Amino acid sequence: MKDEPTAKRRQIILKTAVGNQDNNVSTVVETDSSSIEHQQQQSLSSSSPTITKESMEGKVIPTPHGDNDNLPTTNVIAHKTNVNITNMTKQETATKIFNNSSSDSKKGTNVEEEEEAEVDRTSKDYYFDSYAHHAIHEEMLKDEVRTRTYEMAIKHNAHLFRNKIVLDVGAGTGILSMFASQAGAKHVYAVDCSSIAEQARQIVQKNGFGPDKITVIQGKIEEIELPVLEVDVIVSEWMGYFLLYESMLDTVIYARDKWLVKDGTGVVFPDKAVMYICAVEDGQIKKDRIDFWNNVYGFDMTPIQKIALQEPVVDIVDSKAVVSDAVPILHLDILTCRKEDVEFAADFKLTANRNDYIHGLVAYFECAFTQVHKPIGFSTSPFCRYTHWKQTIFYLPENLVICDKEKITGHITCKPNRKNRRDLDIGISILVDGEHSKSSFSVDYRLR
Ligand code: SAH
Repeated sequence: MKDEPTAKRRQIILKTAVGNQDNNVSTVVETDSSSIEHQQQQSLSSSSPTITKESMEGKVIPTPHGDNDNLPTTNVIAHKTNVNITNMTKQETATKIFNNSSSDSKKGTNVEEEEEAEVDRTSKDYYFDSYAHHAIHEEMLKDEVRTRTYEMAIKHNAHLFRNKIVLDVGAGTGILSMFASQAGAKHVYAVDCSSIAEQARQIVQKNGFGPDKITVIQGKIEEIELPVLEVDVIVSEWMGYFLLYESMLDTVIYARDKWLVKDGTGVVFPDKAVMYICAVEDGQIKKDRIDFWNNVYGFDMTPIQKIALQEPVVDIVDSKAVVSDAVPILHLDILTCRKEDVEFAADFKLTANRNDYIHGLVAYFECAFTQVHKPIGFSTSPFCRYTHWKQTIFYLPENLVICDKEKITGHITCKPNRKNRRDLDIGISILVDGEHSKSSFSVDYRLR
């Protein structure tokens, strides 16, 4: 049974399969610097505006209904097999492999030094370094909303890259490094701690980016040496589920503080992130995921129900299920934020936009590149195109009956778990004093 795939491997495979299924076209959001407005690509629907000047400043976003018929029918039921399999780490195992094995000896090597070794990986290797497997990179690359936004942000702002030194924090396959090089970078340092760096070396070479253009360094950002003292631009795709899961932002902050030019001209791609929360009617799925444990073949399995409820679910939320406005709970300026900022607390007040039931709260985020000529960004809102981040659903222990315009008052806290910093402890308190529901409760969730 030694070679039996691990749970984590299965997560990757399943998650990728789901991702591919929904991977239909990009919603790249391009914005205007004076009045930042949402533009959809021509082939896309006229879904609701999400990244606006207001949203990046973190104002309340009304969640419209009935005008999103052209949106993909992101039927959550169709994805129920994906329950709880999607909280795959984007970074966790990278650290482990470092502590674990051969990668230390490769730390800081570059194209010339690296010998092409025949690597025969086992499922155990992939467990310890999930980023080593191509499936996770395939999923990220096929997320066109994500990848095309980076491509446009970089290539439409070649003036920021021309003759500049660029650091790609967590380069993966080297995609962002190659975009940066195409945009005219003098040199790109592509750093990744995972053994995917071995393929990245071959990829950049095969695509004509010689050692004078891109240097791939396999190593942990926190442990490597760069051959330069300063870089002009940092590009990184560090975002995890619920924006902060995996805490890779720490790594970007570390790189920024260590290498980004200190004269105020430094650029970080992206430089803004905002997280939002809204309420959803999700009775059918909650029944399937939570109430299920009440009676399993006649047996009471409610001890599992409590645990199931405490685990936020990463999945697609149908925009039609959203029953309130969406309000910001976190703003991050990547140019100035500190490691401690991933620990946050926020009060929020949601306003119901119809008579309905509330079974859960949903969190999603937006990212933007605003140091550019014409700001650009993308959203992971239920009202926007599919991204591999989907949305994060927090099921509530009580179902609320809500009337149009009634308020849901809440408080959310988030901090890395003490024992495992990659996990997040998220506390949510809710108070409703409506016509039909008068209730207050708190739940401690753990995103793992
Ligand atoms: N930039 C690529 C990959 C993004 S995924 C793309 O856009 O497709 C994030 C990558 O960061 C993973 O490949 C992971 O191995 C790497 N990574 C995570 N933490 C790191 C660290 N501390 N040092 C170096 N690389 C890291």
